Amino acid sequence: MMGKLLVVGSMAFDSVRTPFGEASDVLGGSATYFSTAASFFTGVELIAVVGEDFPEQHVDFLRSRGIDLEGLERRKGKTFRWKGEYSYQLNEAQTLETHLNVLETFRPHIPDQYRTPQMLFLGNIDPELQLDVLEKVERPRIVACDTMNFWIEGKREALWRTLEKVDILVINDGEARALGEDSNLVQVAKRILSRGPKNLIIKRGEYGVLMFNEKHTFGAPALPLEQVKDPTGAGDTFAGGFMGHLASTGDYSNEGLRRAIIFGSVMASFTVEEFSLDRLRHLDKRQIEDRYREFRRLTHFEDI
Ligand code: AMP
Repeated sequence: MMGKLLVVGSMAFDSVRTPFGEASDVLGGSATYFSTAASFFTGVELIAVVGEDFPEQHVDFLRSRGIDLEGLERRKGKTFRWKGEYSYQLNEAQTLETHLNVLETFRPHIPDQYRTPQMLFLGNIDPELQLDVLEKVERPRIVACDTMNFWIEGKREALWRTLEKVDILVINDGEARALGEDSNLVQVAKRILSRGPKNLIIKRGEYGVLMFNEKHTFGAPALPLEQVKDPTGAGDTFAGGFMGHLASTGDYSNEGLRRAIIFGSVMASFTVEEFSLDRLRHLDKRQIEDRYREFRRLTHFEDI
């Protein structure tokens, strides 16, 4: 197994309503989904903060996945909370409430043993915190980053400063359009790639994923699923599968990135089948490999 994968991001209580049900104060957060998905492929180190109200059983779950929790801080106050809603067209969440709580004053402390990561994922969190973590570690081989409208609208300049230093930006199409200030994704990609990231991965919900870099464009569909209950966390789960797989192979070539995108898509396809992290709780390697093969069949065609 190749080097270590470090993630900083949010840990949350989510309240979510979709046309297929609802859940209140369930386990969520960008770091939570990311690290759980990545843990199926590689060792993960986590930096995040929770409040006094965060149940030990959630920590135990992450520990049971083998995730290194040395960088998880528990502080006085309440855990970050997010409330969102999805319409029948499940692709984009509408944020109803964001309560930063302990995230508001969080200044990540990096344990010494975390300072030389092979790969770093800057999960959806304040871009100033993302930069802070990036500057406190030795330059990793690969730095990837996610964000969302909340930060694109509220901290655009800080976000661009962070993006100057990342290799791969992973965002959804709505966010990409807001950041690139254009409706055409090819134009958006050009603009974003000219300002730092060498690769841009745009997540398009049920329509799959597009990756742009200077030389290539790659597209992968999402697996058509019989049941989608809650898309929350699909993006972070995608990123966890993608980075986890990359960390396990150490193959950062264009082909390696493409294969990792498929593993990211495989992982996301599980998360959306249940609320919160419920589907990931009873997932095994064999199911992951079966779905990887399903992806190959879905996208295979013969040339004449
Ligand atoms: P996604 O993978 O894009 O669906 O991300 C969903 C997760 O992002 C949820 O579990 C939320 O707890 C978390 N989240 C939502 N808003 C924010 C925010 N402003 N900062 C950090 N995390 C957030």
